[in-house]
Amino acid sequence: MLQKKFIAFLAAILFAANFFFLPNVSAENSASVQNVTLNKFEGNESFIKFLNSLPQKKGAYKSKQRPILLEGAMNIEINRFVKALKNPVVYRILNYVYVAGTYKNYPVIVARTEQGMENSAAVTALAIENFNPIAVINQGIAGGHVAEAKINSIIIGDKYINSAAIITEKTPAGAGVKIIPQEMRGTYCYDKDAKTFKLCKEYFPDPTLLKIAEEVAASNKNFHTLTGTISSADAWLNGIDHYKYLNETYGSLAEEMENCSAAQICKSLNVPFIGIRAISNNTILTQDFSEDTAATSQDFVLLVVERYIKTITTSYQLPANIKESFN
Ligand code: SAH
Repeated sequence: MLQKKFIAFLAAILFAANFFFLPNVSAENSASVQNVTLNKFEGNESFIKFLNSLPQKKGAYKSKQRPILLEGAMNIEINRFVKALKNPVVYRILNYVYVAGTYKNYPVIVARTEQGMENSAAVTALAIENFNPIAVINQGIAGGHVAEAKINSIIIGDKYINSAAIITEKTPAGAGVKIIPQEMRGTYCYDKDAKTFKLCKEYFPDPTLLKIAEEVAASNKNFHTLTGTISSADAWLNGIDHYKYLNETYGSLAEEMENCSAAQICKSLNVPFIGIRAISNNTILTQDFSEDTAATSQDFVLLVVERYIKTITTSYQLPANIKESFN
């Protein structure tokens, strides 16, 4: 009897000790990354201070309308968006930062994807799960693959490829490293008809978003725009012959590190997507990296967002026979 009581007492002590000695993983697993600072661009510190000064929200995001998700990898690629939001609040999911607010009275979420394909995929998937966006726009800066893609040119992506997802020829030892000839292998994307993941070599924008981006380009002559393929990879390529190959083989106009993986997740989860970039550097033109170009991308994308909001809200509110003028 006494022995039983002793065991019960011991169990109670061990149970209580749990709370003191074991890390409490579930309650606050993002606490250690609250002030993540990743790059040293000018204005970065003040922007991070600004983000930290906003209301920090916990719990589920609630909105009657599905928000538009705007993605940018670095602070310089999201600062204009965040400043344009009304009533911004910060959500932190895992290591990632999302700012929710409204733009032109419509709910918008701005996500800082961080740099690279894996981060942008994770941020997009987490956003789709937590915010249920009606559309995703991945934007920011990119390197030009052709001479027409000058600093500040806008590239409207009508196709996205992962330029590292390739198969190369079998070569003998001593033949050197050869990635050309190559075949596109693609990345695994969920096919809802086949109910399984399948290799996908190229991804495409939502037709409505593409049409709107083209309309914005046509009606704003202060932007120099090109439409074509955007290449993505966790790579920064510097070979002019490599650019030529990517342009001639895949129609690539520019390279960056986030678009295609976000497009892949959006296709897997059936969410409309578009990728838009401003050229920040072009080796062919010996134009070095200019961070100011991140503002150009955001300015153009805000015009796309405004027009898209009109399209989706009028299609909800107006009878089909009433056509609204957008100009
Ligand atoms: N000096 C900064 C610059 C990063 S640039 C740093 O080292 O932290 C890399 C980012 O800009 C990526 O997010 C990518 O999407 C984009 N980018 C711009 N130009 C690029 C290029 N020529 N090749 C690949 N990514 C490019």
